[in-house]
Amino acid sequence: MSEFYQVVVQLPAHGGVSGPLSYRSELPLSPGALVLVPLGARLTLGVVWGRDTDAAMTDTSERIRPVSHQVQDFEPLGDAWRQLLQFAAGYYQRSVGEMVIGALPAALRHRDAAQLDRALRLPRPKPPRSRRTSRGVPAEPAPPDPVLAAPAGSTELPVLSDEQATVLSAIHAQPGPFLLFGSTGSGKTEVYLRCIQRLMEQDRTSQALIMVPEINLTPQLEGRIRARFEPLLGPEAVVCLHSGLTPPQRLKSWLAAHRGARIVLGTRMAVFASLPALRLIVVDEEHDPSYKQQEGARHSARDLAIYRGRLQGAKVLLASATPSLESWYHSRPAVEGGRYLRLAMPGRIGAAAPPRVLLVDMKRHPKGAVLAQPLLAAIGERIARGEQCLVLLNRRGYAPVLQCTECGWKSECPHCSAYRVFHKIDRSLRCHHCSLTSAVPRHCPTCGNPDIHAVGRGTERLEEQIAEQLQGLRRPDGGPVRIMRIDADSTRLRGALESSLASVHEGEVDLVVGTQMVAKGHDFRRVTLVAAVNPDNALFSSDFRAPERLFALLLQAAGRAGRDAAQQGGSEMWVQTFHPRHPLFLALRANDYPAFAAQQLKEREQAGLPPFSHQALLRAEARSQESAQAFLARAGALAVALPDAGQISVYPPIPLSVQRVAGVERAHMLLESQSRAALQRFLTQWQPLLHQARQDPASRGLIRWAVDVDPLAI
Ligand code: ADP
Ligand code: ZN
Ligand code: ZN
Repeated sequence: MSEFYQVVVQLPAHGGVSGPLSYRSELPLSPGALVLVPLGARLTLGVVWGRDTDAAMTDTSERIRPVSHQVQDFEPLGDAWRQLLQFAAGYYQRSVGEMVIGALPAALRHRDAAQLDRALRLPRPKPPRSRRTSRGVPAEPAPPDPVLAAPAGSTELPVLSDEQATVLSAIHAQPGPFLLFGSTGSGKTEVYLRCIQRLMEQDRTSQALIMVPEINLTPQLEGRIRARFEPLLGPEAVVCLHSGLTPPQRLKSWLAAHRGARIVLGTRMAVFASLPALRLIVVDEEHDPSYKQQEGARHSARDLAIYRGRLQGAKVLLASATPSLESWYHSRPAVEGGRYLRLAMPGRIGAAAPPRVLLVDMKRHPKGAVLAQPLLAAIGERIARGEQCLVLLNRRGYAPVLQCTECGWKSECPHCSAYRVFHKIDRSLRCHHCSLTSAVPRHCPTCGNPDIHAVGRGTERLEEQIAEQLQGLRRPDGGPVRIMRIDADSTRLRGALESSLASVHEGEVDLVVGTQMVAKGHDFRRVTLVAAVNPDNALFSSDFRAPERLFALLLQAAGRAGRDAAQQGGSEMWVQTFHPRHPLFLALRANDYPAFAAQQLKEREQAGLPPFSHQALLRAEARSQESAQAFLARAGALAVALPDAGQISVYPPIPLSVQRVAGVERAHMLLESQSRAALQRFLTQWQPLLHQARQDPASRGLIRWAVDVDPLAI
C-alpha cells in the first residue's frame, strides 16, 4: 500500500503553478527528507513537505508518480526550517519550491541517486586518538566533551567594560530581540563572543549563527571567533557559509551546520542554513543593505533572523553603530510600542575620544579644488609623522564621462541609459551597468576632433591628483609618500584585497584612496585621518534612504580611524561639502546618531514613509519602456477589484533612474499601505492577476516581472 506525499520541487519560474506536488511512495517518508522525484522527463531534487491526504481521495490518484529515491544517511530538515522557508516564500511572494531548493547547496542539484547518497554520506567516525586504554576491548569513539576539556577562563579573556557587563546581563536576563547600539570600537564583538560562550557552556548541543554583511570584509571577525572557540570546542565547531565558497566547500559547511556544528558565521544566505539547535542569532552591522537580496527572492536576512529567532526560541541580537531607521524605530520604548530592547554602548574601548569631525565648506575654496588647502595640510602633517590617512570617494574609474569639446559627444553606452566610465589605467571605456568595455577612441567618434575631455572625478583620478598635490612631501624616513587605491577595480583578482589590506596594516602605505568598500569592517589601527571628498549627492537623492546610508557610511568610516589608542592630536574625520549646515553633517559632527535618527524619522512620519508605512514594488523589464509600463498599469487596474485594495495606495508606473540596462527597459510601480497584513493579503491575491496582466496584448515585449517586498532602493 503506497502513501501519498507532498514534495517541494523547483518549477520553472512563473509557470503559474506553485506549492508542493503529489507523489506516492511504498516506503514511509518523513517530512523534511530529501528525495529524487520525476518531473516531466527528468528526475529532480525535492523535499518531502508532508503527507498528502487529499490525493488518495481523487480519482486521478493512480496517475500520481512514485518517488524515485530517498536520500540515505540524511536527517530530515526540521519543522522550524520548513516553516521558515514556507513563511519566507509567502512573505516575499515566491514559490516554496524556488525558496526551498534555493536554500539547499547547489552541489545537490542535478545529481543522480548514487551521487546524492555519496554527497550526503555521513563521515566515517575517525578512530579515537591513541589513548592508553586497556587493549582488545574495541574503543567506542569517545563523545567529545570539549567544554570540559578546556574550561572557560582557561584562556585569557579581557575584563569587560562596565558597558559590556551591563549589556550582557540585560541580554542574559531577557528573551529579546535586542538592538545593540554600540559605537565602532565599543566592544560589540566581545559581547557577541561572551553570549556565544555562555550559550555553549549552558547547552552542549546548542548552535549560534553570526551574520555579517560581507565576509571578505571581515576576516578579523572570523579570526577572533576561531581563536576564541576552537580551543574550547574543537577545530570542527566553527563553519563559514558565504558565496565565496566553492560548491563542494559550501555543501560541506552546510552539512556541518545541519549536523550540529556549534557556530556558523555567514552572510545573508546563512539565515536559511539548517540549524536544528539554533539558540542565538547575531546580526552584525544590521543596517547594511547587503542583508537584502537584490535579485531573485528578494528577502531580507535581517528581518528573517527576527522571525527565525521567534520560531526556534533563539535570542536575536541586532547590532550597529548606525542602526537602520526601522530597527531604531522598533526599539523605541516598549510603552510606545517598541518590540526590540535597545541596549547602548556609547564608549570606545581604549581610545579616549571619538574622532573629531571637521566640515570643510567648499564654497569658500577655489572651484574644482580636489582637496581643500586645510585638509591637504592636515594630511601632510599626519604623513610627516608616520601616520596613515584614508580618503574616500564613492566612484571608481578615472572619470565618469568623456566629452568632445567640439561637438559635445559623450561616452554614452549604446545599451544602457548611462555613460561609460573612463578607466585610464588600461585606457578603456567601461559601462558599469552592462560591463561593455572598449578602447578609448583617439578622435571623437562623431566629429573627429582629437580633443576629448575627461569630465568629473573617480578614484583613479583622485589618486593621481593627490599624488601630484603631495609630491614634495616626505615621510619621517625621508622617502616619498606611498599611495594605494582600494576599490572594486584594484581588488578584482583573487587575494588582491587581502594583500592590499595587509600592506596597509603593515604600514607599507601612507595614504589609501578608496570607495565605500574600505569603510566597512576593517580595523585600520594606524589610520588617524579619514576624509570624505564629495559626499553631497546623497543629500538630494530621490531615494529617501540615501541620507541614512550616507550617515552610516561616514560614521563607520570615522570609526576606522585610530582605534588602537588616542594618537597625538587624536583622530579626525574630514568632510568636504557645499552644505556644511545640513542637519546630517551637524549630527555627524556631534557624533549624535539619535539626533539624526529622530530628525529622519520625523520626516518619514510626515511623508508616510517606512517605518510608518509598508511598501512593495512591482518591477518589470521589457523590450520597450511602453510595454514595461503597460504591464504595470494593467496590473494596477486589475488590482482595484481586490478586497484589500482600499487599504493600498498604488502609485503610477515610472521608469527606473537608470531605465535601460543591456538593452532592457526597466520600470516599477510602488505600493504602500499602513497595514502590513493588508499589503500581504493584497500581494497574495494579486499574483494570479499579474499572470493575467502578462497575457494582455499591451504587455507584449515584457521579459520578466517580480514583486519586491520591503524594497530598499526606490
Ligand atoms: P566593535 O565590534 O564594537 O567595533 P570590538 O569588539 O572589535 O568593537 O572591540 C574593539 C577593540 O577593543 C578590539 O581590539 C577588542 O579586542 C578590544 N576589546 C573589546 N572589549 C575589550 C575589553 N573589555 N577590554 C579590553 N579590550 C577590549
Ligand atoms: Zn565631437
Ligand atoms: Zn551598458
